[in-house]
Amino acid sequence: MIQLKNSAQISTMMDAGRITGEALLLARERVREGVTTKELDTVIRNYIEKCGAKPSFLGYGGFPASACISINDEVIHGIPTVNRVLREGDVVKIDVGAFYKGFHGDSARTIPVGKVSEEALKLIEVTRQSFFDGVEQMKVGNRMGDIGNAIQTRVENNGFSVVKRYIGHGIGHELHESPDVPNFGTAGRGTRLCAGMVLAIEPMVNVGTEEVYEMADKWTVKTRDHKLSAHYENTCALTSEGVIITTLVDKSW
Ligand code: MG
Ligand code: MG
Repeated sequence: MIQLKNSAQISTMMDAGRITGEALLLARERVREGVTTKELDTVIRNYIEKCGAKPSFLGYGGFPASACISINDEVIHGIPTVNRVLREGDVVKIDVGAFYKGFHGDSARTIPVGKVSEEALKLIEVTRQSFFDGVEQMKVGNRMGDIGNAIQTRVENNGFSVVKRYIGHGIGHELHESPDVPNFGTAGRGTRLCAGMVLAIEPMVNVGTEEVYEMADKWTVKTRDHKLSAHYENTCALTSEGVIITTLVDKSW
């Protein structure tokens, strides 16, 4: 069942979202060659806890860290460790959640480490654009398929592929709620959108094949062809006045 949120609940979700977004901004400042993914995770955890919130992912289904940090051909759910060191030319995906006063925020970004390839820059930008194409369709009376179709169209028109095995989701008291938010679909089809819905819209975009697989650690998801993947996610609340992107702290990012 879809849990619609009232304006007081959305206001609390804006606080959870702001903390989530600020944690990501702090992590971005620390991204450079030589930094371990564990260091980034610690920065994120410390900031979230300093705000009086809890990292949503820590312990979720047994996940052992506060952020999912995935590099290059890793799509999502990478586990931060002291052995994983960022290298010039890498693209690093950081996915963060914060739980505050009973509500979650969920947001992800893809960050270049130093100088990266033209293809990587294009992938990062197209993935970001596809998110905003999706948000543009997040209107009262539209359908879920309008969002997915807009995302898929942007991605495929640029020669990339949309990951279909993993999708966005409703969010609120629970990190993952109904409804499903696929990054693909048919315009005019699917769940009708209404005020009070809060959705984590999160395109995962691959340079090559859309096929992915889970590694032996039971978490990390990689592209089948080991080509690059990018991720961009925000928590978005639909109100009668329009969409509030709760986790978008830096409007240009
Ligand atoms: Mg996320
Ligand atoms: Mg999510």
